[in-house]
Formats: sequence, structure tokens, C-alpha cells
Amino acid sequence: MNKKKAIFLDRDGVLNKLVMNNGKGRAPYNLEDFDLYPGVIEACHKIKKSDFLTIIVTNQPDVARGWVPRESVEIINNKIKELLPIDDIKICFHTNEDNCLCRKPMPGMILDAAAAWGIDLKNSYMIGDRFGDIAAGVSAGCMTFLVGPGDEQGSFPEPNYKVDSLFEAVNIILPNR
Ligand SMILES: [Mg+2]
Ligand SMILES: [Zn+2]
Repeated sequence: MNKKKAIFLDRDGVLNKLVMNNGKGRAPYNLEDFDLYPGVIEACHKIKKSDFLTIIVTNQPDVARGWVPRESVEIINNKIKELLPIDDIKICFHTNEDNCLCRKPMPGMILDAAAAWGIDLKNSYMIGDRFGDIAAGVSAGCMTFLVGPGDEQGSFPEPNYKVDSLFEAVNIILPNR
């Protein structure tokens, strides 16, 4: 099948649970801390059967901060690829200070994936748990879903939809399947 649309997924807080640290959620650093949300496996298989690609776009700034080695991010991503039918994973390893084009809220990871796969962004979706994910999706021209309560919105745009889970988002995008 020649897929030309995608569902872009944030990783931490959408696929897997955040690890709470001083009241803030962060990425899991090892497999003991890695735990998928309920319904995620079913949701990803539902996308797989559809005409959407499944592409993860994830900020992993703790690598540049020296808090975690790059291999830890890769171990978790390999586990995700083992558990879920994912077509591609784009990772930004930078922090704000790097002023890169890939760190969400910038749309670089989405735009790179769109160029590589020939994706029609206006018929694609970005699903994230932070307003920076939504901003990246809006900048790329995608429709957007915020999962959960979100973080500080600031000047970031509103999502098209607010849902409680990836499972709920996928059932809105792909009803009756
Ligand atoms: Mg997140
Ligand atoms: Zn970056």
C-alpha cells in the first residue's frame, strides 16, 4: 500500500507513561521504568491496518543535558519497535540552547519525515501530551490531538481535539474499524 498520510506520535506521555521526578514527568531511562499506557498496542495496530503511517517524533533533551546516555533512548525505542508496528522514529537530542530546527515546538522532525515518505501533511495528525507537540503539528500543517491535561499553553495554539488517551484519538480518526 502506498501510504501518503501519517499519524505522528509523541513518545513520552502518549505511548508510555512518564516517570515522575520532583513533580515533573520525564522520559523513562531504562526498561524497568518503561510502561505503555492501556490501549496503545491496540491503537497502533488499528493505525497499521489503515492508510496512515505511524511515525514517532520525540524530543530527548536529557541526552544533551548529560543526564542519560543516547543508548538509553535507543533501548527504549527498540523496545517500542518490538511491541508496536511503528514505521519510523525521529529523535531530537538537542536542548533549547542548541536552537535546532527539530526540537518541538519546531516542526523539523515532522517536515523531515514528510519529505522522506512523501506525506500529505494536511491530511495527517500530530498527537502529543504537551502544547509544544501541538505547536509543531500546527506549524507543519497537520491536525492535532492533545492527550491529557497538557502543560503550560503559553502562546501555543489550541489543538483540534482534546482526548484522554491515544486509544481515544485513534478511534476518532479511524471510527468503525
Ligand atoms: Mg510527551
Ligand atoms: Zn533538535
